Formats: sequence, C-alpha cells, structure tokens
Amino acid sequence: MTDQPARPQYPHAESVEDFALNIADVRARIAAAAERAGRSADEVRLLQVSKTVPEERLLLAIQAGATDLGENKVQEAKRKAENLADQDVRWSVIGHLQTNKAKDVVAFADEFQALDSIRLADALDRRLQAAGRGLDVFVQVNTSAEESKFGLEPADTLAFLEELRHRDSLRVQGLMTLALFTSDTERVRECFRILRDLRDQARERDLIGPGGLSMGMSGDFEAAIEEGATVVRVGQAIFGARSTPDSEYWPGFAG
Ligand SMILES: *Cc1c(COP(=O)(O)O)cnc(C)c1O
Repeated sequence: MTDQPARPQYPHAESVEDFALNIADVRARIAAAAERAGRSADEVRLLQVSKTVPEERLLLAIQAGATDLGENKVQEAKRKAENLADQDVRWSVIGHLQTNKAKDVVAFADEFQALDSIRLADALDRRLQAAGRGLDVFVQVNTSAEESKFGLEPADTLAFLEELRHRDSLRVQGLMTLALFTSDTERVRECFRILRDLRDQARERDLIGPGGLSMGMSGDFEAAIEEGATVVRVGQAIFGARSTPDSEYWPGFAG
C-alpha cells in the first residue's frame, strides 16, 4: 500500500506507572470521542491488544488495571492464558482461526471476534457443546474490499447471521472489522459506516443480539467511536510500538 500513514509515536510501557499513564490517556481519548458523538464513554469497551507482549510485561499492565486482553494468534494466547491463569483477566481471540484450532479457543477463550465461516462456526459449536459451554463471538466483515483481508463480504453477512442462529453455543455479540489502512480518514470512516449499516439491518431482522460493533485500533479508534464502535481494540497506544510487522497478522498487508 502506498498511502500508508506515518506511524504515530507510541510510548513503550515498562512499569505499572507507564501502563497506568497510557491506559488513562487512551481512556480520556475514548471519553472525548464519545462526547463528540453524543455518546456515553460507558458504551465503549476497551480491549487491550497484547500480542507480542510477554507475560512479565502483561503482569504490569494487569496491575495497572487491564482486565480485558485481546490476542491475534491462538497459540500465543493460549500460552499466556495458561501462564496467567491466576489473574483475573478475560481473553479475547481477535485473529483469523483455522478450523483445526477451534479446540484451542474453546479451551481458554472468553470471546472470539473473527468468526467468518460456517465451517468454523460448526467446529466451534461442536467443541463447545462437548465442553458444555458457550462462547461470545463477533462476526468479522471485510469492509475495505481488499482481497487480502479476512472476513465475510458485506453482501453475505446477513445470510451468514441467519445461518448462525442454529448454533446455540455461539452467542453472537456483534460485528467486527479492520478498516482500510490509509491516512484518508473519509475512507476509513466509510469502512466503519458499512459495518454499522449492516448491524442496523441485522437488528431490524432480529439477527444480532446486542448488536455490538468491534472497530477501531490505535490509529483510528476515535473515528470508530464517532461512527458507533462499542468495542475498540487498542494495542500499541497502550503497550508501545510493536516491532513485528503487521503483515504477520494480516496477510497481504504491506506496512
Ligand atoms: C493488532 C490488532 C489490533 C490492534 O492494533 P494496534 O495498532 O496495536 O492498536 C486490533 N485488531 C486486530 C485484529 C489486531 O490483530
């Protein structure tokens, strides 16, 4: 991608105090964005994305008040959840999942945000039924029309939600998306609006439970809140800049 914006500087957090400062800063920005949109900050959940961050530093973030952690890769997430089992943390898997890894998610995750196929829904449902538990899920939608992005096509989303109705163990909480990576904020907002419109249509058909919108990351969470986000997934603005390139997580992403 050629129109990739210059990365803002994200301060690296190394102590409980650093984390407390970064978290407070993000929360203040969430509150300000909510206020601009005439919304309450309580409507917006802050999911702290801890991928690549080792357990020792995660403990500092937890001491600074982090309770809701998001991880892109299931193996890494499972390892951390096991090593931090004595902590009061809620784990959310937010990255693409292969069907044969469904059992790993069922083993530890409280939430899965990247549901994008019926095959995967069936694999999760089967494992969940066997384990006698349910799982909060978000359906991922590709709102940027990029070949490389995971997620359902917007046009397929309502039919998909309709089919999900028969998987009782999957509690559909809403829709999730990654916006276009561009400094053109109008195009970023357009992705968020596509997700919101889909949510509204799903609501009219009674297909989507609470109808949450998981959208917005370190670079665009304020715009996402102005467009209706109920969950923002923020990593670098809390933990510091990642050295791992984003292409690790989003195939085809050239950043
Ligand atoms: C890494 C990641 C984020 C957070 O990105 P930051 O730039 O660290 O805020 C959000 N969503 C998904 C799916 C991710 O993989």
